[in-house]
Amino acid sequence: MSSFAPSTALVTGVHGQDGGYLATMLLGSGTEVHGLVRESGQAAVMARSHPSMVVHVGDLIDDAFVRDLVRDVAPDLVVNLAGSTSVARSWDAPVETANVLAVGPIRLLDACWALDEGLGRRTRIVQASSAEIFGDPTTSPQDETTPVAPITPYGAAKAFAHTMVDVYRRRGMHASSAILFNHESPRRPQTFVARKISRGVASIALGLQRELRLGNIDAMRDWGYAPDFVDALARIAASEAPADYVVATGVAHTVRDFVAAAFRHVGIDDWAAHVVIDPQLYRPADPRALVGDPSRLRSLGWQPTVDFEQLVALMVDFDLAELQQEASTDDALLEPPTDAFDAGRPR
Ligand code: GDP
Repeated sequence: MSSFAPSTALVTGVHGQDGGYLATMLLGSGTEVHGLVRESGQAAVMARSHPSMVVHVGDLIDDAFVRDLVRDVAPDLVVNLAGSTSVARSWDAPVETANVLAVGPIRLLDACWALDEGLGRRTRIVQASSAEIFGDPTTSPQDETTPVAPITPYGAAKAFAHTMVDVYRRRGMHASSAILFNHESPRRPQTFVARKISRGVASIALGLQRELRLGNIDAMRDWGYAPDFVDALARIAASEAPADYVVATGVAHTVRDFVAAAFRHVGIDDWAAHVVIDPQLYRPADPRALVGDPSRLRSLGWQPTVDFEQLVALMVDFDLAELQQEASTDDALLEPPTDAFDAGRPR
């Protein structure tokens, strides 16, 4: 890795899974971090979890806001994580998806271009691109040369931004795309299948839920651990030559494998007895197999620290602990505190 250490970083979408991990990493290495969120409620949460971060509230769909923010913060690193990360949701909101995920990055790139012109230097930009840009690829594993051919509104928006990063890079900017394959952690929302499974299995193991409803369990994905992927973002930013990088483990599993591993972890072998396949949860179009070849990224010294079985185990363990804690808090609320009980007693 090079000696690049950002002095001021702007992280958009800092409220999300990756944003939180990235902010922690950058603050820990002494970088001044400016985080962008869309809502004031998110700003309050971030101010509590990362007190030394400067939080800005605004939207990537607002040209003037983006231009002024970049000019005022004058970051030497921008990491764009903003926008919904749910492929499933993009079918319900294709216009918003395009505005935020496709055009939003151009607003950022252009604001950085203007900043660089003014200051006579190169801001480094890392765009969170996605394996969804490959659509339903015919070759496996996918690498940086795999044809871009999206099949979902989310993938199409990400593909446009991905191309524009290349356009600005050819224009002379230090702009890179991190082509992120699926990456998970206990901070992942339950709208994603990995967390839905870990939560559901923990809940079934504790007797709080009877069944887990899922859609296409034959889909194959390359699931990595989010903090490892955030480490990849930092390495990509630090690389002297801007480029596209596949960020993936290189190991593929089906949703079915994830389900089986999660149930196995809580001692249930007969997982099929607890799973209901719900056709409503199938998508209009869904890549069958996404698995990445991270060879180029490995040349930056990157390697994953958590494998598939460990990822499943740590997510299920987190959900078991959280559900147990919630249950004990509920019990405590049901029981009146001893002193209140005593106070009401006839003496
Ligand atoms: P994605 O790959 O970014 O869309 O991440 P997801 O975690 O949302 O979905 C991964 C795969 O799991 C996709 O092929 C989904 O069709 C499949 N899947 C099967 N059942 C479910 C479900 O109940 N929820 C979600 N989110 N995905 C499901």
